Amino acid sequence: MGTPLEPRSAQAEEVVERLEAEYPDSTISLRFSNRLELLVAVVLSAQCTDERVNEVTEQLFEKYQTAQDYAAATEEQLAEDIYGITFHNNKGGYLKGIGELLVAEHDGEVPDTMSALTDLPGVGRKTANVVLQHGHDIVEGIVVDTHVQRLSRRLGLAEAERPATIEPELQEVVPRDKWQQFTHLLIDHGRAVCGARSADCDGCELADICPSEKGDSAVDLASGEPW
Ligand code: SF4
Repeated sequence: MGTPLEPRSAQAEEVVERLEAEYPDSTISLRFSNRLELLVAVVLSAQCTDERVNEVTEQLFEKYQTAQDYAAATEEQLAEDIYGITFHNNKGGYLKGIGELLVAEHDGEVPDTMSALTDLPGVGRKTANVVLQHGHDIVEGIVVDTHVQRLSRRLGLAEAERPATIEPELQEVVPRDKWQQFTHLLIDHGRAVCGARSADCDGCELADICPSEKGDSAVDLASGEPW
């Protein structure tokens, strides 16, 4: 078992420093060229891979270029145009609803506040945080996706189980100027080394400070279950 640094903020800083060295180009992997495309891509990415979203949006963004375009389409047409995305029927409805609300209340623009964003259909705090960070350069919170959720618990940075309660725990210990990058670093490390079912602790640069490290720890702190 690795020995985490104390206090927890020192652990967070060390994790960020090591992962920045490992993944110097870490950033969002969804493709977009404006705020509306970003919003749509993030909504589509819920429980779906970024690769699949990027495949589908390549054509989607040629066909739908404004909020009005989404508002004017039928849900069925939108669902067909995003076929291949998880829950495409529901998400087709979200895209139409988003288009309608943007047109009705925001002059067709993507708003820049957490409350206005989370009023949009299919948009929760995680999606809103991504849009604020990458669309408006506003870093108001930490995006907690499934990788961040798992790795934060494994590394002893958070004890809560749900993203909504993990986020404030992380905000306490991750340096504020690293909030945005923290997410991308943990996602990259989760994909490359510390997978849900395939943690490669032997090849991990965090092994000596990770309390879940398999060599000695019998327990995966993300699940609380034996490895
Ligand atoms: S791969 Fe193992 S040592 Fe590395 S962060 Fe994940 S659980 Fe910890």
